[in-house]
Amino acid sequence: MSPEEVKGFENKNFQIRVTPYYAKLAQDEAPGGPIRKILMPHASESAEAYQEMLDPLGERKKKNRPVDRIIHRYADRCLFLITDFCSVYCRYCTRKHFTGQESFLASPKEYEEALAYIKNTPSIKEVILSGGDPLTLSDSRLEKVLSDLREIEHVELIRIGTRIPVVNPMRVTEDLVEMLRRYKPVYIMSHFNHPKELTQEAAEALELFVDHGHPVFNQMVLLNGVNNHPAVIYALSRRLLYLRVKPYYMHQCDPSIGTDHLRTHFGQSRELQEALWGRASGLAMPGLSLDIPDGGGKAGFAPPFVKSESDEKIVLKGFDGLEAEYINPPRELMRPPMDYENYLKEWESVDSFGREPISSDF
Ligand code: SF4
Repeated sequence: MSPEEVKGFENKNFQIRVTPYYAKLAQDEAPGGPIRKILMPHASESAEAYQEMLDPLGERKKKNRPVDRIIHRYADRCLFLITDFCSVYCRYCTRKHFTGQESFLASPKEYEEALAYIKNTPSIKEVILSGGDPLTLSDSRLEKVLSDLREIEHVELIRIGTRIPVVNPMRVTEDLVEMLRRYKPVYIMSHFNHPKELTQEAAEALELFVDHGHPVFNQMVLLNGVNNHPAVIYALSRRLLYLRVKPYYMHQCDPSIGTDHLRTHFGQSRELQEALWGRASGLAMPGLSLDIPDGGGKAGFAPPFVKSESDEKIVLKGFDGLEAEYINPPRELMRPPMDYENYLKEWESVDSFGREPISSDF
């Protein structure tokens, strides 16, 4: 270990844990190697920070946390924190206020409160199982959660946010994916950050999900010295896509405590997106997203295509430098679809959640 890594073990701010499998991926790396940077504590975690927050996403605020194990920020979806335990504690974790306390499962009271909240909130169409890592639960415990959720009529879709295919892919078995299929649609939100993580074992785990009908979307975090080069992101995205996994987000790393050394400059993140645009296909292109600190929600970004905009037209410059105008038809000609009222009831269940309702003459 490097002296900085040794010193990192003195910092008690965040748990340290790794699976033998994931540690092996880093065994040939010098200090500063990509996997090593994700899993090894470092002296920089206790250095004076440019910005650091225990709760960068404002998840502990009462308005976002109606009950202990639920985070509800957006009308039609909520997070259900079913465990705080992870097989590997990623050094950049944004949920250090919760993850790694190792209280493991929700208490019976917390669990019942969470289920009751979802049941009594009909706007919730998607439940995202999160934590911690839900796939650290046994199949039988996970099945109990899924079957309880499927009792709630308005829950249409269940997502599982997990690093298990990355850090312990052997956990993904035929039994697991068959069990999940009984509660479909179940979407898997994986979290690969680097092409090295896509081993044969990881590929087999992903194929098991997809072959059993579970769509897989990948969310990566942009990390300094790990994946902040377009060639690395391109390689990761192409390999994921080949395995039928959609590269979904590249997240700006949150200013979580002890994470400065892993955060990228946002200007660089935008340059990475621009470099990839027009080179990576739309399918291979993850969306760049930054969570507004303190719980402001996700902000999405696109390269600066728009040179100027007026009511009449928009002047654009494409990825290859070509400039052109897009002339608008007059606004007065805009008409709503004739059948839009058929869909208003569904829309109204999410329209007023934390925002001004949209006027009916939209
Ligand atoms: S797997 Fe997710 S929740 Fe767990 S430590 Fe890593 S980033 Fe945090």
